[in-house]
Amino acid sequence: MNSAQQLCLACGLCCDGTLFNHVRLGPEDDAKRLKAQGLPVTVSRTKPPVTRFPQPCGALCVDRTCRVYADRPRQCRSFECGVYKDALAGRISFPAALRSVRKARRQADHLRQLLHQLGETDEQSALTDRFQRAQRRVESGKADPADGDTYAELSLAMHHFSLLAHQKFYTRADTPPPEQA
Ligand code: SF4
Ligand code: SF4
Repeated sequence: MNSAQQLCLACGLCCDGTLFNHVRLGPEDDAKRLKAQGLPVTVSRTKPPVTRFPQPCGALCVDRTCRVYADRPRQCRSFECGVYKDALAGRISFPAALRSVRKARRQADHLRQLLHQLGETDEQSALTDRFQRAQRRVESGKADPADGDTYAELSLAMHHFSLLAHQKFYTRADTPPPEQA
């Protein structure tokens, strides 16, 4: 296994609902085959329709390998985060890339703990979806006033994570649209 593969197996952030909340399929992707392999592919009613499946991805295994690797969609084949690209190009060392990945994972784990404390316990939802639900509850006044400090900590932690993600992981072409970021 090469260093780039080891980096991704230590990470998984582009598959587990941390950096993206959906995988969009294109005309070159075999939606039927992916569906037959258990991925909940849906087609939106928008114009043009969007074919996609949600993250955390059901094909992501515990060891962070991809269960449908040979059939993975173009979005998955083409995405290389900034940390990965920098390491591959020799702009940073692989140990430095691994440190960035571990830092991001620690921050994402902390966010999930805070979301859990706020009652957002659905681990099958992407991080930003859970954060937005917590935000809506607080802003609508439905949240427990005792949760105010936790929500303040969550907001700050989300801000720091978002900065890290945009500095180190998303590249200009890969930055998700606002509904996914
Ligand atoms: S976010 Fe980057 S390092 Fe992590 S799994 Fe994806 S491509 Fe690999
Ligand atoms: S299909 Fe594979 S590569 Fe794509 S998001 Fe799922 S686990 Fe990751």
